[in-house]
Amino acid sequence: QAKNSAERDAVPYHSGLETGALHKKRLGFALRSAIEEQQLSVVYQPIVRASDLAVVSLEALVRWDSKEFGRVSPADFIPVAEETGVIHDIGRFVFQRACEDLAAWPGLKISVNVSPVQLRDPNFANDLAAIARRNGVVPNRFKLELTEGLLVRNPTIAKRKLARLKSMGFGLSLDDFGTGFSSIGYLRQFPFDWLKIDKSFVSELGTNPTANALIQSMIALGDAMDIAVVAEGIETPEQLKLLRLLQCEFVQGYHLAKPMSASDVTALLARLGEGRRMFAGGADSGY
Ligand code: C2E
Ligand code: MG
Ligand code: MG
Ligand code: MG
Repeated sequence: QAKNSAERDAVPYHSGLETGALHKKRLGFALRSAIEEQQLSVVYQPIVRASDLAVVSLEALVRWDSKEFGRVSPADFIPVAEETGVIHDIGRFVFQRACEDLAAWPGLKISVNVSPVQLRDPNFANDLAAIARRNGVVPNRFKLELTEGLLVRNPTIAKRKLARLKSMGFGLSLDDFGTGFSSIGYLRQFPFDWLKIDKSFVSELGTNPTANALIQSMIALGDAMDIAVVAEGIETPEQLKLLRLLQCEFVQGYHLAKPMSASDVTALLARLGEGRRMFAGGADSGY
């Protein structure tokens, strides 16, 4: 501890970078024992049908409460976990937890994020199937969320792996769509069920005409290819209103619901009742 702060103080130039690298190393070290020490948990964010605001699915998102660093954002620790290989254990942990939790939520799908590093593991598909089987859960309760980077780097292998997962019953969702390099023709080669429009487009809805046009064309693309479109990061009633006008099928974001614990999901669903509609009145409530 004392040595680390001394090292930090001794670096006069580029100290931000130096401590950044050191910080990453320390994060990576702490992350190795995070699962065993029960510092990881899983929260769930509802995905909602735009027309009636019914909850259709829940996205599992990992959380890390470190003794040393406090709450660390996945944006900071997932890249470290990928570099150190701990991502494989984290992935299995999240999937196991999701299998346990979804028993309380019949009729709902669960989306699970998968890093390209996990997919590279030759045992990935078999591991997931084994965990699902052990928990008495069928793979079609799940959608695996993947990002474009994976497809671009090695399309032939990615195509084979995705086809295999699909044949096992897993649904597939293309996350952060629009931020990578995927072309339309390219997308056709992959068996995605869902396409998630990245929140960077949604945040500019209504203020940047280009964002509106881009979202509109992504929705048209989804329609043409029979892929359901989900818009991420809806933070305002205006954004929701515009997405409904553009006939976006599903929405997700703080305006609808924030990520929450499994017990909070259960309480929310109980409160919403049969129709699972997020706001009383749903489509007619002025949104
Ligand atoms: P993602 O899969 O694109 O997840 C969406 C992120 O946006 C989540 O951040 C979510 O909490 C946040 N979000 C949701 N609604 C809103 C909104 O209205 N406004 C804003 N500004 N943000 C919103 P989170 O949980 O911090 O996760 C960040 C990223 O970390 C995820 O992006 C995903 O790529 C990765 N990640 C999270 N959990 C896992 C996991 O279990 N495994 C893997 N491999 N990656 C994960
Ligand atoms: Mg995701
Ligand atoms: Mg995303
Ligand atoms: Mg992301």
